[in-house]
Amino acid sequence: MSLLQISEPGQSPAPHQRRLAAGIDLGTTNSLVATSRSGVADVLPDIDGYHLLPSIVSYTKGQPAIVGRVAAAAAVSDPLNTIASVKRLMGRGIEDVVQTGNKLPYQFTKSEQGMPRISTVAGDVSPVQVSSEILKALKLRAEQSLQGELDGVVITVPAYFDDAQRQATKDAARLAGLNVLRLLNEPTAAAIAYGLDRGSEGIHVIYDLGGGTFDISILRFSKGIFEVIATAGNAALGGDDLDHEIAKWIMAQADISGDASHSQMRHVLSEARIAKEALTNQTSVELRIDLDKGAVWQGELTRKQLETLIEPVIRRTLAPCRRALRDADIQVSDVQDVVLVGGTTRTPLVRKLVGEFFEQPPLVDIDPDKVVAIGAAIQADILVGNKNDGEMLLLDVIPLSLGLETMGGLSEKLIARNTTIPVARAQEFTTYKDGQVAMMIHVVQGERDLVDDCRSLARFELRGIPPMAAGVARIRVTFQVDADGLLSVDAIEQTSGVSSHIEVKPSYGLQENEIEQMLRDSMDHAESDVESRRLREAQVDAKRLIEAVESALAVDAEKLLDCEECQKINQALEKLKEAESSSSLEEVKRLTSILDKASAGFAAKRMDANIHKVLSGHSVTDFDNK
Ligand code: ADP
Ligand code: MG
Repeated sequence: MSLLQISEPGQSPAPHQRRLAAGIDLGTTNSLVATSRSGVADVLPDIDGYHLLPSIVSYTKGQPAIVGRVAAAAAVSDPLNTIASVKRLMGRGIEDVVQTGNKLPYQFTKSEQGMPRISTVAGDVSPVQVSSEILKALKLRAEQSLQGELDGVVITVPAYFDDAQRQATKDAARLAGLNVLRLLNEPTAAAIAYGLDRGSEGIHVIYDLGGGTFDISILRFSKGIFEVIATAGNAALGGDDLDHEIAKWIMAQADISGDASHSQMRHVLSEARIAKEALTNQTSVELRIDLDKGAVWQGELTRKQLETLIEPVIRRTLAPCRRALRDADIQVSDVQDVVLVGGTTRTPLVRKLVGEFFEQPPLVDIDPDKVVAIGAAIQADILVGNKNDGEMLLLDVIPLSLGLETMGGLSEKLIARNTTIPVARAQEFTTYKDGQVAMMIHVVQGERDLVDDCRSLARFELRGIPPMAAGVARIRVTFQVDADGLLSVDAIEQTSGVSSHIEVKPSYGLQENEIEQMLRDSMDHAESDVESRRLREAQVDAKRLIEAVESALAVDAEKLLDCEECQKINQALEKLKEAESSSSLEEVKRLTSILDKASAGFAAKRMDANIHKVLSGHSVTDFDNK
């Protein structure tokens, strides 16, 4: 009799029935979709043979949105209803958008959740809706070419995307009717595409400069496992910034004023980009700009001039490179190879400066436009269950430390930045006051010591803690970050089992406060942070002692203290109360220690008294049995 076969979990029971999966590179400038067929992943073109779908959505009244090249053509004639670079707005609050959006011509309106909406002739739309139009177009393209419905997709996001931005991306996918297998960091996807796992063990750098974002990732491949050991970057730096430098130059040359119309600006920007891309293969280009009233400006831009204009922008990518190396604790000489990703890495000056920085010529074998989508497609194929045994396990890292607020406004970090995910970490906390029955859990993100200097992600309360003396309750707080980098937090009081849980879906109203800036601050303020932390800790100690002594005096002063002793304690108490919020660390510590000593005898007496009280009425064996 033959044995019955049972399929493995996650695998299709019908061996020949492949599930349809795709990888999507949802870019600021261009988006792509790729899929794996017969073991080879490649990008899917549209019916005209174009791989890149410009990430541009155009709205007209009473008609469905138009996406891609046709929409791009409308950008010049109808800029207010043609949304480009929407990725820059994903997961952002209105305040950030006003800042980030300075360069953008759209009219923003506020909505209840703090997520900005863009006014168009077709009504107000949110960045999530705009993104979902792009995703719908890619879904359609994939399903037409695969002739079936997609079972699941992997969507890539910049390594720098925070929780809100990742969540917004997932929301957009859901709106587009896609099943997201997982979000994947773009540089990580590039590494998969390059099959770095098939090479030798070592350290690889992925340098990704696209239209709107810059990411640097350092990957270590060892013992068959691929690990992202550090990431850094800038969520608002890319080819668009080069276009702006060139546009500024053109406007100066052509005498176009700074308050030119939106469509004029679009026209100049679009010419600037065409010139920039042409200068990748040519040494000079002719420029032709239509001015008002049929006038035309003509000029020439040489590659040399271009390089003078853009060099400062490109050099801004080097600071994150340095930081990533430092975080990974490696030297330039440890880097085995440097992979270039993103359209802007075609620029010769980028290749030159990156080569100089890493002291080796970068790898450019795979089309820098397609590489991310291809990697996502390979990962999607594995996750949907088409591949089996021993497929590479990919680990990502979190970009900023996650912690919570403790007494004195200090941040206690539970998960350090660059920790690989998924990850779960727990720590025990306790109550600050006698009889405290609730606890405020404030989740923060950032490297600084003071909560005020970190970014607030969420607050929630744990209620129903049984009343106990201060410091007795044991509240276990667990931080869990899933494979997409999304955080959930649990708090449970150990004796009673009361618990509380939150999925950190931070408000969209985050401060733009670039991670870059936060990290720089944490380095600049390292010393002063240590001082502030010490002072806050001393102040918390002082406060705790004051409260303890005061409540003890209220209960037992008459019973246990003589006048002289009582006076001594009261004096020390008053002095410390005066100095408690003083900014002198020494003073707070000195007076705390005086009160501590002054009240030591009293504390001992109380303890004796309590032991007597407890012991009376019990036989010794009562205690033995416990
Ligand atoms: P994103 O990932 O942000 O969508 P891409 O990786 O598609 O961006 O890169 C788009 C950027 O690449 C644009 O700024 C575009 O101008 C630039 N780019 C494309 N081709 C070239 C080229 N030949 N030379 C220089 N820059 C280029
Ligand atoms: Mg990209």
